[in-house]
Amino acid sequence: MSQFPVKDGELLVGGIPLSRLAARVGQTPFYAYDRQLLTRRVALLRAALPASLKLHYAMKANPMPALVCHMAGLVDGIDVASAGELKVALDAGANPREISFAGPGKRRAELSQAVAAGILINIESFREVAELAAISHETGCAGRVAVRVNPDFELKSSGMKMGGGARQFGVDAEQVPDLLTEIGRYGLAFEGFHLFAGSQNLRPEAIAEAQIKSFELALRLAGSAPAPVRFLNLGGGFGIPYFPGEQHLELAPIGANLSGIVERAARELPAAELVIELGRYLVGEAGLYVTRILDRKTSRGQTFLVTDGGLHHHLSASGNFGQVIRKNYPVAIGNRMIPARLETVSVVGPLCTPLDLLAERMELAEAQAGDLVVVHQSGAYGMTASPQAFLGHPACVEILV
Ligand SMILES: *Cc1c(COP(=O)(O)O)cnc(C)c1O
Repeated sequence: MSQFPVKDGELLVGGIPLSRLAARVGQTPFYAYDRQLLTRRVALLRAALPASLKLHYAMKANPMPALVCHMAGLVDGIDVASAGELKVALDAGANPREISFAGPGKRRAELSQAVAAGILINIESFREVAELAAISHETGCAGRVAVRVNPDFELKSSGMKMGGGARQFGVDAEQVPDLLTEIGRYGLAFEGFHLFAGSQNLRPEAIAEAQIKSFELALRLAGSAPAPVRFLNLGGGFGIPYFPGEQHLELAPIGANLSGIVERAARELPAAELVIELGRYLVGEAGLYVTRILDRKTSRGQTFLVTDGGLHHHLSASGNFGQVIRKNYPVAIGNRMIPARLETVSVVGPLCTPLDLLAERMELAEAQAGDLVVVHQSGAYGMTASPQAFLGHPACVEILV
């Protein structure tokens, strides 16, 4: 499953053997992201998707400034979810016209910053329209807005559903015509629609179906819009394989489906640029979490490798970030990739909670204190999605190699 090559029994990150890299970082635990893998991933996608489709990076997946800077040079735009992320995107050199801002509770100050920055704001409530109208009135600067629609369908078999039914995200499709009237009345600069049905999906047919339904819903709503649709964000949801038995997402059927939508849009929404926004698919497989074994213990016949990292840096790998049933992430002993012997062990962290588990009874290379445990598929929802302050252990470090 790993995208990282092995040489002389060690994983290579950016061509550097893992133990050498750990020495360079000067501490464990750390996250390492591989620039070349990021670049390759975007190229793979571009080759499979229609040329006119814009590709955005949803930076909540990984907001490390150096990584966002690298991504900003590869994708067409950045999607942010707070004023803090907006700062990182602007610092990274992203074009404000191609930054969009979504999130269910945007504060007045954040909306003001977004208007001043000239980015596109995905409106998620009637309150946001009123706030933006007031900001526009005060500053003489009409906010650029799109409507985030809570669709009347779901993205089937998604890891996390974020649309359909009752949701805190977006505005229900049936309320959107009234919202569009308000936007027109206040003279905000209407630019389009944003739909995001869910994430972590590995079924191309489910993604394709959601994209078609999203397009058709936007087409219907466009009839009530105060201006032509210039921007249509069809969401994303592309998943990556985390667990045994999961396969890489097949891109060809998704690309073919999107080509059909692009053709229809040219006729039916001729002013619209189509966008998809991806987080984990772009960055998830390019990252490793690296932690060192401190202790090796046996308890009633089971072996535990106790490491200096765990749940406080990598909540997702511990199984506590939205998973229903805990499964092991792809874990390996990064400096013993060609093992002399295998053994079944549990890998735990230093925290005083049984939730601090990185691998449960997994077959790994036989390892000792000082060896490096790596968690693959860790480039998204890692450090910033984890409770680093929990139990007061040293902070984690991130590097881009
Ligand atoms: C979280 C989020 C994404 C990214 O989801 P991934 O599963 O990482 O691709 C994209 N768009 C919106 C609106 C989101 O909230």
